[in-house]
Amino acid sequence: MNTEDVLIVGGGPVGLFMGICLHHHGIPCTIIEQRTETVKESRSLGIHPVSLELFEKLGIVDEFLKSGINVEKGIAHNGTKEIGSIDFKSCPTPYQYILINPQFETERILRDRFLNLNPDSLINGAEVIGLEEEFGCVSLTIKKEGKEHTLEAGYVIGCDGKSSFVRKAAGIGFRGKRYPDSYIMGDFEDSTSYGSDAVVYLTKEGLVECFPLPNQKRRWVVKTSDYISEPTPELIAQLIKDRVSKEVDPASNSMVSGFGVSHFIADHFVKDRILLAGDAAHVVSPIGGQGMNLGWLDAWHLANVMSFCRGISKDLPIADLFVYEAKQRPIAKKVTRRAAFNMSLGKKTILHPFRTALVKAMLKKPFHDKMAKLFTMRGLEEVGF
Ligand SMILES: Cc1cc2nc3c(=O)[nH]c(=O)nc-3n(C[C@H](O)[C@H](O)[C@H](O)COP(=O)(O)OP(=O)(O)OC[C@H]3O[C@@H](n4cnc5c(N)ncnc54)[C@H](O)[C@@H]3O)c2cc1C
Repeated sequence: MNTEDVLIVGGGPVGLFMGICLHHHGIPCTIIEQRTETVKESRSLGIHPVSLELFEKLGIVDEFLKSGINVEKGIAHNGTKEIGSIDFKSCPTPYQYILINPQFETERILRDRFLNLNPDSLINGAEVIGLEEEFGCVSLTIKKEGKEHTLEAGYVIGCDGKSSFVRKAAGIGFRGKRYPDSYIMGDFEDSTSYGSDAVVYLTKEGLVECFPLPNQKRRWVVKTSDYISEPTPELIAQLIKDRVSKEVDPASNSMVSGFGVSHFIADHFVKDRILLAGDAAHVVSPIGGQGMNLGWLDAWHLANVMSFCRGISKDLPIADLFVYEAKQRPIAKKVTRRAAFNMSLGKKTILHPFRTALVKAMLKKPFHDKMAKLFTMRGLEEVGF
């Protein structure tokens, strides 16, 4: 490879989007991904308007709009009655909704686009096992089909997720903590009359939330007191019935999983010729659904900074790349605070009547539009919450 080129480690949603953004700026790149197949386990669903605006700039928004569901309203419920709602129609046009798309479908669209733009630049089934920085370049050792190979490039971007090899090999610290909270989730046939609305139940016993999915399904997420790695559909259905009196049919279940939550942030997003984006740079609580969207904002800003620096010199001035870290690290911290706030609203509490009154007030004017802004990832570059 040419030492002006970029190697992206990780072909998840952020690595693929990073590749599309670099291509947009005419910066050659190759993605190295250890998987050979798409992970069918479903994680992220929510795609926020800020990301849809970026997709529009890159000419890929129509694909997303075709395959997803628009959530225009989020209803808040206290377990016995509706206490308010957020109407995303108060958000700036044209994307006055949160788009719901399963992560494997999101990755498929991004991968197809990347391959369309760069047919030979995605190496699958290759694990990065070594990284060395030499004068003027970075060299990666990859293992593919039992054989080791070396690749060199001017810059390496670690988009290799929360356990990032690139971050560890570069000696970049990752600070944060695990929250005591844990959740179980499952996809069931949609037996509710909520249509395309999302519903958040803030019950005495803890959060229950549900989101529409394509094919008449609905995802339910339930807060639990202890971490349960492999919940049964029956357990999820029982907890939903006990807390919010809704019947879901365990026989219609197509996915279950349990997850704990944490927040971590890398000490640096830039170290010499090594850069980090997505979960490799920061992990935020998935309650509120912002981690992947935050990673896309990283990728967009990083590609802009790299393109700007490249305009000055083909060998990117490393000092200037720090602009990326200076801008994106505070944004990641802000998203972490917002995600923690979302999570705190859903805790089990004896102050249930007080919380109901607080949320009711927050969803009325003059706070309603501010809440819509918070839940759609707006105002991240402004001072304050
Ligand atoms: C239950 C749950 C729900 C969520 N819901 C949402 C949501 O609604 N909205 C949202 O924005 N976010 C959500 N998130 C967060 C979101 O899933 C992550 O932020 C997102 O997947 C991060 O993408 P990434 O590409 O940075 O990392 P990953 O998705 O982890 O991808 C990293 C990629 O790198 C590859 N890789 C790793 N190491 C190597 C190596 N050494 N060599 C080669 N390849 C390697 C991996 O195989 C993988 O493909 C949710 C998370 C969870 C757990």
